[in-house]
Amino acid sequence: MKTVYLDNNATTQVAPEVLEAMLPYFHDLYGNPSSMHSFGGQVAKKLREAREQAAALIGASPDEIIFTSCGTESDNAAIRSALATYPERRHIVTSRVEHPAVRSLCANLASQGYRVTELPVDKNGMLDMEQYVASLTPDTAVVSLMWANNETGVIFPVEKAAALARERGILFHTDAVQSTGKIPIDMSKNAIDMLAISGHKLHAPKGIGFLYVRKGTRFSPFLIGGHQEKGRRGGTENTPSIIGLGKACELAARHLETENTTVRGLRDKLETELLARIPRSRVNGDPKGRLPNTTNISFEHVEGEGILLLMNEYGICASSGSACTSGSLQPSHVLRAMGVPFTMAHGSIRFSLSIYNTEEEIDFVIGKLPPVIERLRSMSPYWTSVTQSCATT
Ligand code: PLP
Repeated sequence: MKTVYLDNNATTQVAPEVLEAMLPYFHDLYGNPSSMHSFGGQVAKKLREAREQAAALIGASPDEIIFTSCGTESDNAAIRSALATYPERRHIVTSRVEHPAVRSLCANLASQGYRVTELPVDKNGMLDMEQYVASLTPDTAVVSLMWANNETGVIFPVEKAAALARERGILFHTDAVQSTGKIPIDMSKNAIDMLAISGHKLHAPKGIGFLYVRKGTRFSPFLIGGHQEKGRRGGTENTPSIIGLGKACELAARHLETENTTVRGLRDKLETELLARIPRSRVNGDPKGRLPNTTNISFEHVEGEGILLLMNEYGICASSGSACTSGSLQPSHVLRAMGVPFTMAHGSIRFSLSIYNTEEEIDFVIGKLPPVIERLRSMSPYWTSVTQSCATT
């Protein structure tokens, strides 16, 4: 059975060009880039090239890039460094819809005595900028707001938010794990101090990422050890993965246009057709300000897990907006923060596309999903009562 992979916000396929670039560095060119000999030196040269490729994708300079092990490490390193920069300040501003890489860290910091403001979002998943400004105080050390949401694709106005933070002397970090490679990012044109990315969301392998730290921003290392990354992250470099990430960044820059034309077109077709064919379905998240590859659709009175299981029988991969917590299905914190009604949040599915998806695959899903929802609804007592009450009113 062919796999139709529409779960690219969870992880992506390693691009063939990325794999090819990495392979020599596992076996033949295994030198340590810190070594004095030229065997290691040739690897160091390749790392410099990867740093340039990573920087070019986001309009940064190579010495503003610190390679890390993942998006989570990048987020943690940024926030902890900001707190170390302003030890007298005890306040952090973030949002209710952040990824656990930020949200759980902030909860942990709150348990250690920091004051954390989690900004709410409206029904479209968008921030209220007045509320944001009101949350900034002289005690605020750092703001951490995601550039784009992993579940809905909603894009926050982080560049505007960063400018407002800078006016007040507050450091600004953004989790750009989902936005990098999908929308243009130019660090030479904004006031963001730190930005986190993860390789496996843009066709590089898992276990590699980077943190951008603006030149002139004080940085306290998260991993203390050797002199690697100019003393900003100890540990012998994961050379094949860094080289792979560099190549993936180069490809992402080249594919940005395709993301915003072809991928967006396929996402729109999937969304429009599913909404037209399936009654009582709706999109979660600001329809205009979203990533081009993501759609989060709720199908009322069905459970997301059921939809995923039946789609799985056709080889279709996606994610649901609810998770099993303590034995019961709970809608995600993102959908709850948006106030999505319970009956809708339970049946929400995130489809996230990549440049490797085809129109044929999208047509396949459009054909298979409506009967899946119909089948699940026919088994649901809630649905029967809804349709009966609709018929009588
Ligand atoms: N931030 C966001 C928005 C994410 O979607 C993810 C991964 O799903 C992460 C951070 C964590 O990245 P990693 O898996 O590389 O630690």
